[in-house]
Amino acid sequence: MILGILGGGQLGWMLGTAARRLGIECVFLDPAEHCTADLVGDRIRAAYDDAEALSALARRCDVVTYEFENVPAESAARLAEDVAVRPGWKSLETSQDRAIEKTFLTEQGVPVPAFAVVDDLETLEAAVAKVGLPAILKTRRGGYDGKGQAVLRHPDDLEAGFSAIGGRPAILESMIDFDFEASVLVVRGCDGTTETWGPIRNEHSGGILRRSDCPAPDVSSKAASAMLAHAEKLARALDHCGVLTVEFFVLGDEVLANEMAPRVHNSGHLTIEYAETDQFENHVRAVTGLSLGATGSRHPHATMLNAIGASPADTDLNAHHIATVNDFGTASAEATVGAAVYHDYRKQPRPGRKVGHLTAISPKAPGTWADALAAVIPGASETEPNSDD
Ligand code: ATP
Ligand code: MG
Repeated sequence: MILGILGGGQLGWMLGTAARRLGIECVFLDPAEHCTADLVGDRIRAAYDDAEALSALARRCDVVTYEFENVPAESAARLAEDVAVRPGWKSLETSQDRAIEKTFLTEQGVPVPAFAVVDDLETLEAAVAKVGLPAILKTRRGGYDGKGQAVLRHPDDLEAGFSAIGGRPAILESMIDFDFEASVLVVRGCDGTTETWGPIRNEHSGGILRRSDCPAPDVSSKAASAMLAHAEKLARALDHCGVLTVEFFVLGDEVLANEMAPRVHNSGHLTIEYAETDQFENHVRAVTGLSLGATGSRHPHATMLNAIGASPADTDLNAHHIATVNDFGTASAEATVGAAVYHDYRKQPRPGRKVGHLTAISPKAPGTWADALAAVIPGASETEPNSDD
């Protein structure tokens, strides 16, 4: 079995480590000079719309998946002529465009923040009249880590906000004063079976995920079951195959869906240590037609901290007895209660760039320990400027 993966970043790498453990070979497609995923598979170095490269990938692989949802429509169609692409086109199309996505969520009966489609200044004015202020203007396509977004607080902000997002087609969304954010990951096999991990609580700053906790502290059972039910329903409606992530805003017992990702997700990294089967292995299992692994927890609590813009110092890793992973994702020490594992992505640090993550396993939702760890993981607790990835 050979699995093709569009994208060779850290998600591709972690998918590749999971595939290796299952005896599945990976071939990546990525235009970058250096890719973390080069550690775990062959790579075709070419652009995502390079017709010849796509055909070569399709010929070499039994199935193709991806680590990001902005796969060009023509590339997905070209691949699909020769090889199974999973998750399929409906999942991609729906999550590539915020207007299609929010409309789909609404049609499925999943509540979302008030929104309106924006094409120009005139429709922006109408959108503000409908949605109110403060609001967030988001480009329909191509945004990630909070890029392509502008906050509008005052009627005078409209023109500057629209030009800040490049005057591109957008949606305007009501600014939600949520209690906190959470995500639910569901994996669906090609036979329609599903498994979910429990809701994960997420902290963002500057539009970038900084910290995740599971079980999600302070989520009511009503909110938790609503999120799980929504995620499973969406996966079914999309006829999804693979991991689907749904991000939510939580307000007491109420939940509003923010967005979906038809792929493994940063908030699910803690499943590597925390769950019986992690998101990467279950995604590989789903798209290659294997039966799904159980998703129950192996520990009482896990906290994930993102390293953004710079790597932690070795002296800090040692001082805090933090284990590290090798090129194949295997940790230098077992992740038991009281242990922490740092996953270095072997990427050149740049401001705003995710270069690694740490998972800490604790007996309960940790306070001071997680704070002490966050103090040695750059970017985990502070706002960093945004950059390219
Ligand atoms: P990513 O792909 O990295 O998850 P993104 O660039 O697609 O992010 P969103 O998830 O839409 O962007 O927004 C990033 C963050 O900005 C959210 O996690 C949340 O913290 C904040 N945010 C987005 N929309 C709203 C909103 N309507 N109200 C309040 N906060 C919001
Ligand atoms: Mg998001």
